[in-house]
Amino acid sequence: MNKEQDISPRIIDTMDIPTSHPRYQSLMLRHRLIEGFKTGLATDSALLAHGRGEAFDYLLGEKTWDFAQEAIAVTSAMLIQAKRPVFSVNGNTASLADTEIIDLVKTLDKLILEVNLFYHTDGRSQKIAAHLKSLGAPHVFESAVNPAVILPGVDSARRKMNPQGISQADLVLVAIEDGDRANALVNAGYKVIAIDLNPMSRTAQTAHISIVDETTRVLKALTDQLKRDATVSEDILSSRIKNYDNKKILDRAITAIRSGSL
Ligand code: ATP
Repeated sequence: MNKEQDISPRIIDTMDIPTSHPRYQSLMLRHRLIEGFKTGLATDSALLAHGRGEAFDYLLGEKTWDFAQEAIAVTSAMLIQAKRPVFSVNGNTASLADTEIIDLVKTLDKLILEVNLFYHTDGRSQKIAAHLKSLGAPHVFESAVNPAVILPGVDSARRKMNPQGISQADLVLVAIEDGDRANALVNAGYKVIAIDLNPMSRTAQTAHISIVDETTRVLKALTDQLKRDATVSEDILSSRIKNYDNKKILDRAITAIRSGSL
């Protein structure tokens, strides 16, 4: 990963990782998640999900590939055209990418955040929502409210959708998501964009747009793309969306991993 893409250290006072370390950025990210675990934003299983992501990121050379950039460009166009886009935030995403999420919502102020957790507790959901609000996010909902709108096909607490949030969305962005819910969202008719380092995951295979890249890198690149697209015409944005083929993007990502070019 490019060291200029600063992943700022948070609680590494007990650590001493030199910036010259070849895995510096990866280790900084790991420590963001450890901090999220210690402060109760993320669960212990989040660390395991992160490890799966790290393995794919290693195989991808910890960089943003052209296939991811194309998916990001389409995501930007779709977000600009959406009336009610919602970003579903879980413990991993909040721990790893809180500042990147804030930069994104400051660039696209119609973007609503909704906290939705696999291992749901009211306390953790409230903590994540309060954390994002404290950093400056204007619209933060929680999925598990009463009464909630129920997403068919999901048995866990993740089936709950806030009546003002995801349930009303015309575009749902998910990151580090599990396949059951992504699939259920697609089956319920939602347009789904997934950030997932594994192009073979059920989430990546099910989503309409799959951004195969690391979440913090994606959110930074997406914010930059949205800024560039602010002056791009509706016609160009529409043709970008029309010409996009997610199957081909996934094939290119799988080929990149299998080529073993590293
Ligand atoms: P699926 O249910 O979609 O087949 P899974 O069971 O492999 O996926 P989970 O463990 O539920 O996946 O979710 C984690 C997913 O997120 C994995 O595909 C993992 O590669 C990916 N992932 C982990 N960390 C990151 C990250 N920082 N950025 C992007 N993707 C990540």
